[in-house]
Amino acid sequence: MLGRVRVVLVNTSHPGNIGGAARAMKNMGLHQLVLVDPQRFPDDNATARASGADDVLRDVRIVSTLEEAIGDCVLVMGTSARDRRIPWPVVDPREAADMVLDQLAVQDDAQIALVFGREDSGLTTEELQRCQFHVHIPSMPDFSSLNLAAAVQVLAYELRMQGLLREGSSTKMHKLETTNRQANVLVTADEMERYFQHLEQVLIEIGFHDPQKPRQLMPRLRRLYGRVQIDQVEMNILRGILTETQKAIGVQAAGERRR
Ligand code: SAH
Repeated sequence: MLGRVRVVLVNTSHPGNIGGAARAMKNMGLHQLVLVDPQRFPDDNATARASGADDVLRDVRIVSTLEEAIGDCVLVMGTSARDRRIPWPVVDPREAADMVLDQLAVQDDAQIALVFGREDSGLTTEELQRCQFHVHIPSMPDFSSLNLAAAVQVLAYELRMQGLLREGSSTKMHKLETTNRQANVLVTADEMERYFQHLEQVLIEIGFHDPQKPRQLMPRLRRLYGRVQIDQVEMNILRGILTETQKAIGVQAAGERRR
């Protein structure tokens, strides 16, 4: 779906930023890059900063006006670091991503543009007025302007997150998930019960718990452990700590007399 979203860079002066934008796009699954009147392109700095996103650079479309870049788009979003004092609907990148994905979903052939301005002066008022919505990354007001490629990264990331969310895909790395699942064989109520018995016994042995004056200790501990879901691996650790505690205080095994 994100194949129908294009990034438009207007009058970029540093080719390194074009490469950086291409890389940011490819990382997040965007491929259509349109350059409006770039000051230096192609350029070795662009290729170097793209570091592997060469296909995005190779397929780049170069045009001379913003109109050519956005003519066939049904939704045009212009990014701006500053409040230009023209009253216009402003959204943050997350809201923008939501709107873009909505439009892509309802219209099969919708083409959408995200427009980025010059490094030194951004987009002109006239260019911003060609955009239906303005996107502002909520940066610090006294230092609001991000590097061009970094701004592309933020918007591309929000689009990817929104895309993953909508297709029901996980936003977490597969490897992490698998590890979690393996560790996540949870203990049974019986195992928890044996643990509480063991724990109470050790707490008595070390003199922390007096069954004659229980002071709600065991219910409180039950409530504490109840708040976390303990898995097999964790239970082995907890039982191991209790057993080693008993060894340390000289309780070798059940039934054995204390020194
Ligand atoms: N001095 C310029 C800054 C341009 S930064 C200005 O005042 O507009 C280059 C481009 O990066 C901007 O045109 C915009 O496309 C993007 N950008 C930088 N910071 C941004 C922010 N906080 N929100 C949205 N876009 C931003």
